[in-house]
Amino acid sequence: ATPTAILVATGRAAQIGVLIKGGDALERLRQVDLIVFDKTGTLTEGRPRLERVVSLNGYDADQLLTLAAAVEQRSEHPLARAIVEAAETRGLKLPSVQDFEVLTGLGVAARVDGRLVQIARPAFLAEQGIPVPEEMVARLAGEGHTVVAVAVDHRPAGLLAIADTIRPSAESAIRALHRMGRRVAMITGDSETAARTVARRLGIDEVRANVLPQDKTAAVAAFQAEGYVVAMVGDGINDAPALAQADVGIAMGTGTDVAIEAGDVTLMRPDLRAVVDAFRLSTRTLRTIK
Ligand code: ADP
Ligand code: MG
Repeated sequence: ATPTAILVATGRAAQIGVLIKGGDALERLRQVDLIVFDKTGTLTEGRPRLERVVSLNGYDADQLLTLAAAVEQRSEHPLARAIVEAAETRGLKLPSVQDFEVLTGLGVAARVDGRLVQIARPAFLAEQGIPVPEEMVARLAGEGHTVVAVAVDHRPAGLLAIADTIRPSAESAIRALHRMGRRVAMITGDSETAARTVARRLGIDEVRANVLPQDKTAAVAAFQAEGYVVAMVGDGINDAPALAQADVGIAMGTGTDVAIEAGDVTLMRPDLRAVVDAFRLSTRTLRTIK
């Protein structure tokens, strides 16, 4: 492609809120045949809210929420925010915590009044020998909720079901990508059940669930090893290495600066149809040039 054609195309893209860093990215976009979306904050709005509280072993909902929110107050995870907000809405007074600890992509833990409170993926607590009620977890996850389990002194104290709204543009964007002959995948740290529920709703072809933050890059590389030219769309700090690994990294402009720096393309409006516009522009520009 001539430099002029590339300038015109990137200029036109910028007008519709798609920032493309240079001609290389534009040319690679055309080659892409698999678009991988991160779930939380990308396919969803990333403003999760607490929908259901299931208390176990004699805790009542307010006690459970008080303990969980006290610990999550120290976390910056979007799920943590949902839990703390719910406690605030209920006017719960949160005790102070000691020995706060983060297990990235798994959960958090701390001591509250000497008791060990853990909030994490249900599967992670189950691996520690904590009897998490699996059927209940599966039912909540089957509704598309992200389910976290709370344990106090290694005994289950409850489940928290958290919902995050799917972006209204997601379904039509994925349909358009399919019409353009591309395959669509999703990578998430969430459970298989919650991930599949969302994927089914959106018509996503491939799902990689339970992916730890540090394994997202390997998941992208595995698609590349299958022969795909991959575009990855993400928003979080966790997504930055995967955006760099992808043939084209596409960052949500609403996301973290780290993701924006790692990407080749930035979407200035949180509308996933902008991804489709970027593909159209790359195909069209390079077609005119040949
Ligand atoms: P995603 O890829 O969807 O952004 P993460 O990799 O950040 O998700 O987290 C994966 C899972 O780890 C969450 O679905 C949750 O079960 C658990 N988790 C992570 N951080 C926390 C936290 N602060 N509180 C409770 N659970 C957490
Ligand atoms: Mg995310």
